[in-house]
Amino acid sequence: MAVIQINFRGKVQKVKIVCNFVRMEFSSKLLENAVYEMSQLPGIGKRTALRLVLHLLKQPEARTAQLALSLQQLRNQVNFCSSCHNISDTVICEICANPKRDTGVVCVVEDIRDVMAIENTSQFNGLYHVLGGKISPMEGIGPQDLTIHSLVEKVKQGSIRELIFAMSSTMEGDTTNFYIYKQIQHLDVNTSAIARGISVGDELEYADEVTLGRSIINRIPFENSLKAH
Ligand SMILES: [Zn+2]
Repeated sequence: MAVIQINFRGKVQKVKIVCNFVRMEFSSKLLENAVYEMSQLPGIGKRTALRLVLHLLKQPEARTAQLALSLQQLRNQVNFCSSCHNISDTVICEICANPKRDTGVVCVVEDIRDVMAIENTSQFNGLYHVLGGKISPMEGIGPQDLTIHSLVEKVKQGSIRELIFAMSSTMEGDTTNFYIYKQIQHLDVNTSAIARGISVGDELEYADEVTLGRSIINRIPFENSLKAH
């Protein structure tokens, strides 16, 4: 990071320049490649990538092989539940296949992290529908990129009594909820939104279990959540 001074309309101002570009000279092409690949991960800069790669290099060879194998297997064999679209090793995931779950209540979430967070609260006994993201024009993600169509089809079948919107309360989350709501508004299904004890913009996975559990129990009709904005 560098600080430079600029003269703007007669006033001298200090401006911080954040530069993420780190120039590294590698003595090995193999090392450079590994660091490059590692630095493609979110939140991993080149310096961290180098530290991680050097750490792996110090580990027994079997550890690195195991890491590479588990990632490769995940990539090659990953399955998505044909009903809720959650990551699963079986065609129908354990939650959807559990006869004790209430199939009439479906919680709409962004991804598996939300399912895990809500499951941890032990306050929800219905099923989930995993959208696989949220509508974000900025990132070029439209409704067709998510599993919205399959959700609407499920609702049309008529066995769902209630849809609970549990997307993060960001602009993209709100847009996604509202888009789905418009698609199913005319159908015979109740819609609700989880009551938020957490501040706007907080992601579900970061909410503590008690707060999140309470917000599911105290969910409000979706129309009311719209008025709150
Ligand atoms: Zn499932």
